[in-house]
Amino acid sequence: MRLILLGPPGAGKGTQAQRIVEKYGIPQLSTGDMLRAAVSAGTEIGQRAKAVMDAGNLVSDDIVIGIVSERIDQQDCAKGFILDGFPRTLVQADATEQMLKKKGLALSGVIEIRVDDDVLADRIAGRYTCANCGTGYHDDNLKPKVDGVCDKCGSTHFKRRPDDNRDTVKTRLQAYYKDTSPLIGYYYAKGLLTTVDGMSEIDAVTADIEAILSGFVGADGK
Ligand code: ADP
Ligand code: ADP
Ligand code: ZN
Repeated sequence: MRLILLGPPGAGKGTQAQRIVEKYGIPQLSTGDMLRAAVSAGTEIGQRAKAVMDAGNLVSDDIVIGIVSERIDQQDCAKGFILDGFPRTLVQADATEQMLKKKGLALSGVIEIRVDDDVLADRIAGRYTCANCGTGYHDDNLKPKVDGVCDKCGSTHFKRRPDDNRDTVKTRLQAYYKDTSPLIGYYYAKGLLTTVDGMSEIDAVTADIEAILSGFVGADGK
């Protein structure tokens, strides 16, 4: 199963991807996570990307296309993967199609998580993750079962992203509408798009996505 999750920042792509990973055992390829790893490691790519990311703008197409192409060649992607936050421009979408074609692969489908703009700032401002295992939480919407302790790994250390502040939300939303939202029409025209209501509770969104994925799994045979 080769899946793309599409939606504005804060829509719930990462949250839903973590659940698909657990159920289907295929990796989540988040270009945001990969870029943040490059920034903390201080690699050349990280150094080029840092200021752009902090401001809420998009990193250049060639950088992200390069990292995704390399990542897809790794062994754990053989049975499929979930692309979270990529492609984000039409150039990246065309590159993805060509990249997969070259490797003899095709997309199973694209799921758009649709969310009203007015809740996105609250989702982004309340977001944090476990510093040890990366599990995602929210100050109001998704708290750990025991206050201050990660459900999954028991760690008591959490972190917030530097770009998750109300100032960057507007820039990030503009980037989404200008550069990424055209992908909705692009994948609709290819017959690959399904839309879920991301305004529902997290579990309800997961159930809607699982119903769609069961169709892919059947059609794809894996
Ligand atoms: P994205 O990866 O699309 O940027 P996330 O999955 O990180 O978004 O979600 C943003 C924040 O909103 C997280 O803190 C998450 O816990 C919370 N969240 C995700 N889905 C929902 C939902 N359906 N309802 C309420 N809060 C949600
Ligand atoms: P969110 O889902 O909250 O927008 P991400 O973690 O997907 O956050 O992305 C964080 C930042 O990383 C983006 O604002 C952008 O600067 C950069 N980025 C991530 N993926 C891409 C991409 N496919 N193309 C360009 N920039 C990207
Ligand atoms: Zn954890």
